[in-house]
Amino acid sequence: MLKIIPLGGLGEIGLNMMVVEYGDVMFIIDAGLMFPEDHMLGVDIVIPVMDYLRENRNKIHGIIITHAHEDHIGALPYLLKEIRIPVYGTAFTLEIVRNKLVEFDLNKHIDLNLVKPGETLSIEPFEIEFIRVSHSTIDGVGLAITTPEGVVVHTGDFRINQSADNKKNTDISSFARIGEKGVLALMSDSTNAEVEGYTVSEQEVGRNLDKFITAAPGRVIVAMFASNVARIQQVIDIAVSNNRKIIFNGRSMEQIVFVATKLGYINCPPSMIRDIKQINACADDKVIIITTG
Ligand SMILES: [Zn+2]
Repeated sequence: MLKIIPLGGLGEIGLNMMVVEYGDVMFIIDAGLMFPEDHMLGVDIVIPVMDYLRENRNKIHGIIITHAHEDHIGALPYLLKEIRIPVYGTAFTLEIVRNKLVEFDLNKHIDLNLVKPGETLSIEPFEIEFIRVSHSTIDGVGLAITTPEGVVVHTGDFRINQSADNKKNTDISSFARIGEKGVLALMSDSTNAEVEGYTVSEQEVGRNLDKFITAAPGRVIVAMFASNVARIQQVIDIAVSNNRKIIFNGRSMEQIVFVATKLGYINCPPSMIRDIKQINACADDKVIIITTG
């Protein structure tokens, strides 16, 4: 019998973790944390209850990470400390995971496996196809899981933002192809999916940022999630066109810019980058600070 067991993440933001099980084989999708709520005094982070995984540790063949947000990867080190299983993810996701594992001194012990959208991973009796999705971080994937009982689709977090660059859009045609063949179950999660209408497009956000930054007379500080790589690039482009030097501030911002630059997802002229310690050497109207919130 096919079992799909959420260990967290349903009806809540954070703690995303799902088990897919058939017979004596199971794999996990995501291992997210949740930041504590107001009543959780003294709690740093919240992670899913993993008793079911401990009880079935010999059945677990791996974990697939859909994207690099903390509510999908934040609990991963706590899982891997106890249960050493292979991790599967796309290039950017895997690099962020690697950095996280270094912090926990786990990187040498864990098998990290690169997957690409369009590829299929076999964990018998499952076949898992990776489908590109657009999201507020890069390199996200949804999953089409062929099981002995039918196809289960897990969309991952996604948005439908038809940008000019087709390589970054949600791969709707793959979802349609899978849908035509018949789907046993669809698991779909997208914040504000129940709100009617459209979200403002990234291009529109870019135009507005450009307008305000170009008109700003003094120092500009842009706060954002470090994982929003496309937004970081938008601000870099605006800074360059306004001849403002760029300062990346915050540990996660610096780390993500480093990884995304290495993988070719961020393009920033090194001559435009300044260290935060050099800020007073920059005229206010010639600098922009990109910082975590
Ligand atoms: Zn997400």
